[in-house]
Amino acid sequence: MSSGDGSIPIGLLRDVADALLKRPGAKVCDPQTRRPIPGLSTEYCSTIYVAGERGALSWRVTAPVSGDKGSCTPFFQVEDEDYPSAQVWVVGYVHNHPCGAPPSSNDLAAWPTDAFKPYVAMASVRLVPGNPLPAVYGNTAVEMASAIVAERQDGTRIFLRYFPTGEVQQWSKSGARWVTLGTCAPRGNSRSRTPRCSTEPLPLLRE
Ligand SMILES: [Zn+2]
Repeated sequence: MSSGDGSIPIGLLRDVADALLKRPGAKVCDPQTRRPIPGLSTEYCSTIYVAGERGALSWRVTAPVSGDKGSCTPFFQVEDEDYPSAQVWVVGYVHNHPCGAPPSSNDLAAWPTDAFKPYVAMASVRLVPGNPLPAVYGNTAVEMASAIVAERQDGTRIFLRYFPTGEVQQWSKSGARWVTLGTCAPRGNSRSRTPRCSTEPLPLLRE
């Protein structure tokens, strides 16, 4: 881990995208409707975590599990080959969106919680204080965040990450930095997959 990687680094997401997007159905999108195709489009998801000792943390992901066209539920519990659970901090989730859509209401509401598994340490949450043992690298607390990877039909990739605060960022390849697109919140009506955002629709970068 290098300094400045207080949240999911682009290098990790590039590796995850390589692994997820070559799986069957991961990029299948109806070109007419720009919607996933039932029975063909498939989401895959992994849990993102950091492991190691203060000053020597590394970013890791679990092996992906498969979902269906519109959802995927990763395992929350992480078992690392190299480190015991006390040196493992769950950060969030990563999954693909077959049509490259921004995070859904469900995505924005799905966060790992340690309420029922108190031995699982969590990354720092921006809004919620009281995490007893957050993952810290140098002087930077690792922030809880999740991510979405996707590939457009022209082969360009989309990397999004979002935070419990609702902030949604996209990686700008030309700017080599994360650009904040807006802040979103799940809609109260759980049947609506589209969240409420500060800018609607979220202005995805085209590059
Ligand atoms: Zn999603």
